[in-house]
Amino acid sequence: MKRQWIDNNITILGFSLSGIASAKYLVKKGANCTISEKKEEKPEDAERILELKQLGINVEMGGHKEETILNADLIITSPGIPPHSDVIKLAKDKNIQVISEIELAYIETDKPFIAITGTNGKTTTTKLVSEILTNSGLNAPACGNIGLPPITLIDSNVDYFVTELSSFQIYTSKTFKPQIALFINYAPDHIDWHGSEEEYFEAKASLFTGYKSPAWSILNACDPKVTDLKNRTDSKIVYFGREMPDTSIYIQNNKIVYKSKGRIEEIIALKDISLIGKHNYQNIMASIAIAKIVGIDTDIIRSTISDFSSPEHRLEYVNTIDGIDFYNDSKATNCDSAICALRAFENRQVVLIAGGRDKGTDLCEFVQSVKKHAASVILIGEAADRFQEALELFGYCNIHRAGSLEEAIETAFSLKLGPVLFSPACASFDMFKNYEERGRAFKDYVIKKKTLSPA
Ligand code: ADP
Repeated sequence: MKRQWIDNNITILGFSLSGIASAKYLVKKGANCTISEKKEEKPEDAERILELKQLGINVEMGGHKEETILNADLIITSPGIPPHSDVIKLAKDKNIQVISEIELAYIETDKPFIAITGTNGKTTTTKLVSEILTNSGLNAPACGNIGLPPITLIDSNVDYFVTELSSFQIYTSKTFKPQIALFINYAPDHIDWHGSEEEYFEAKASLFTGYKSPAWSILNACDPKVTDLKNRTDSKIVYFGREMPDTSIYIQNNKIVYKSKGRIEEIIALKDISLIGKHNYQNIMASIAIAKIVGIDTDIIRSTISDFSSPEHRLEYVNTIDGIDFYNDSKATNCDSAICALRAFENRQVVLIAGGRDKGTDLCEFVQSVKKHAASVILIGEAADRFQEALELFGYCNIHRAGSLEEAIETAFSLKLGPVLFSPACASFDMFKNYEERGRAFKDYVIKKKTLSPA
């Protein structure tokens, strides 16, 4: 039986997309909802707050009142709030259940979820899977961390919720059990939120293991930490990335193939893929694994992959000025994804613009990649000192510093040493609201420069 919400006191932590969506859903079901936000109200919030109040939702800005927490029958938390924050600790001390919006959507529907996680490639893979399934006639929207809360889709006759999940959302989804779960890859990230690298990995691992084991787990066969999950899951496993004894998707003779019950089927030739960079082969192979489990026709899988181009801010080609190509990879918020972007240029040397808010992870591999693929590096933001130190330590000296993104673009262009790649390897919050704003700023500067330059 579905949970009844009438007269339940629900506190929603965070004036976020998912928090607002949860409140709107639950108030319609008869719950008493309060959205509680730590940050002060900004002028641009006023209209939305008024709309929520008109719907009967209480909104408290500028801090969480203790009584708002203690009076709650259930708390729905937003992905940005760390588990060690005072407000979550208080709720836990008082035994008040804290769940994510993903968990809320899960308990409100009987429709299956496809859960996509990993350190890098989640958005690309989620979009691709959604497109493959949609092209085969299924209602399979891309949702979750990608920016569309699944709770908004509960009444829309969805066949599959194709859900991008961050480690934060998994951590607060205690009963969430997708039909298919994918672990694309693993690299240390978000240590500040989880407290340690192990806790970050375990948050992701919990999606695949124990009582939450999905019917199918799709694991990256090239990632030992990920494949080790085979010993902790009750799922049927499909491996991708290299040939394994179970059903698998891998590259053979420049084609992605699918092997099942000893039979090998060609899915797509590498030359027919429009996405740039070998890292995207991972995302494509993983998407094929999901599509095959769902039972999608190979022709639909092939044509969708060959038409699929990079989502915004992910190795996105922007323009060419005076023979210099500009690429926006603002979504590269950690070293691992910046390394993949550098590698995508294979034999071409790029001018890399990097930096932002430092995540404090080890820089060795990043530096090696810069040495191999970058003719020069322009550093910006808070991370500039540490990045410069690490690069110089390994003998890389083609470094420039810039006080703004615009200045970095000017410097990169004036060097004329190769395509300009903006792949920051850092978070954006020191200079921008988020990576989207940062990516748009990059594109705007480039386009402005293009319009000002002689044809
Ligand atoms: P996520 O949603 O996990 O952050 P995205 O698809 O948004 O992943 O891509 C984020 C960044 O990582 C982009 O810079 C992209 O070029 C890079 N990237 C995409 N897929 C992979 C992958 N499989 N491995 C490493 N980096 C990747």
